[in-house]
Amino acid sequence: MSLSYEMENSRAWQTYLAQINQVTPYLEEDLIPFVNTLKRPKRALIVDVPIVMDDGSIQHFEGYRVQHNLSRGPGKGGIRYHPDVELNEVMALAAWMTIKTAVLNLPYGGAKGGVRVDPRKLSPRELERLTRRFTSEISPIIGPQTDIPAPDVGTNASIMGWMMDTYSSIKGHTVTGVVTGKPVHLGGSLGRVRATGRGVFVTGLEVAKKINLSIEGSRVAIQGFGNVGSEAAYLFHKANAKVVCVQDHTGTIYSEQGLDVKQLQNHVAQHQGVAGFPEASMIDDQEFWTIEMDILIPAALEGQITAERAQNLTAKLILEGANGPTYPEAEEILLQRQISIVPDVLCNAGGVTVSYFEWVQDMASYFWTEDEINQRLDKLMMSAVEDVWSKAQEKQCSLRTAAYILACERILKARKERGIFPG
Ligand code: GLU
Repeated sequence: MSLSYEMENSRAWQTYLAQINQVTPYLEEDLIPFVNTLKRPKRALIVDVPIVMDDGSIQHFEGYRVQHNLSRGPGKGGIRYHPDVELNEVMALAAWMTIKTAVLNLPYGGAKGGVRVDPRKLSPRELERLTRRFTSEISPIIGPQTDIPAPDVGTNASIMGWMMDTYSSIKGHTVTGVVTGKPVHLGGSLGRVRATGRGVFVTGLEVAKKINLSIEGSRVAIQGFGNVGSEAAYLFHKANAKVVCVQDHTGTIYSEQGLDVKQLQNHVAQHQGVAGFPEASMIDDQEFWTIEMDILIPAALEGQITAERAQNLTAKLILEGANGPTYPEAEEILLQRQISIVPDVLCNAGGVTVSYFEWVQDMASYFWTEDEINQRLDKLMMSAVEDVWSKAQEKQCSLRTAAYILACERILKARKERGIFPG
């Protein structure tokens, strides 16, 4: 495994910095001196994670936990297991969490972690050992009042269960609130697994109404069929949209009359990918970006919508289920072409919002019904869309810039009022 400084700087952090530069001219004068606070992470920890493999050999993995900003509360954000994870990427993902929690007005800062590993290549026992050692390495800086991890790409509820158990063993008592996205019988919340996809759907519906795009009969293309993409696909399908194209790491499938999403979910559970789904044709991966569509949902990794792809895209509405899927130069083209983008920091905030509900339930040791959770989620997401939409109208700017204005003002006001220690 190579070390992070041997790898090329990820473009994700550059994308984030460009977004901060874009919003700066819109901020109130007295907050400008504090903007630099957002241009660097508060704290970044790099850890070595050695584990004994099933064959008895020892392998070292590199892991990170970055706390980007803690002005509004404890750090919050997922843990990613992926072969491309590196420090600059985690910094960007942590920064987007800072903005996201502020857009939704959740009482958190932003953080993110990750391990450079392909989890598909580990056995279940190796995955558990990796998770427990990684948790132990980052345990000095996480905790229910300091920084609360959650699932992200390549991690899931079982992994959160191991993290909670490892942290609790170190503390000597059960600490449910140290991570969210846990299994329900370990203090997890109902509705958490589906929350991100649900939020993508709810925000998509609200913005579609505003731009007069009818969901019924609309053509939807989705990149990524994991936790986020598959639930969003299901909800759009149920609302009578046609999910015509889905791409994942195994290939791209297409169906002119729309895919049966329930059947596709069963197929993916059995075959670990969309490839080979009957009743659909496989098309070239590049074709995904040029097919006829009304709604595009990037729900995989960052840096997918390039300038070239933006030129040819036929979508009228883009719902960013993934974090950072659109490059700034691509966004300029999309905006010129009058394509609406519901930005990641709003669109995929359903996950962290129900994470917040989980943390609140853990603190109170009192649990809500799934209906209560979904109702509260929908309400928060809908009012965040309203706030962002009216800010965009008022300032005549994109939805992303509007979301950043709202978030940066909340974060920097908190920073200003707290003052700079030691003063
Ligand atoms: N990983 C998710 C995200 O990017 C969820 C984070 C959380 O629940 O803390 O928003």
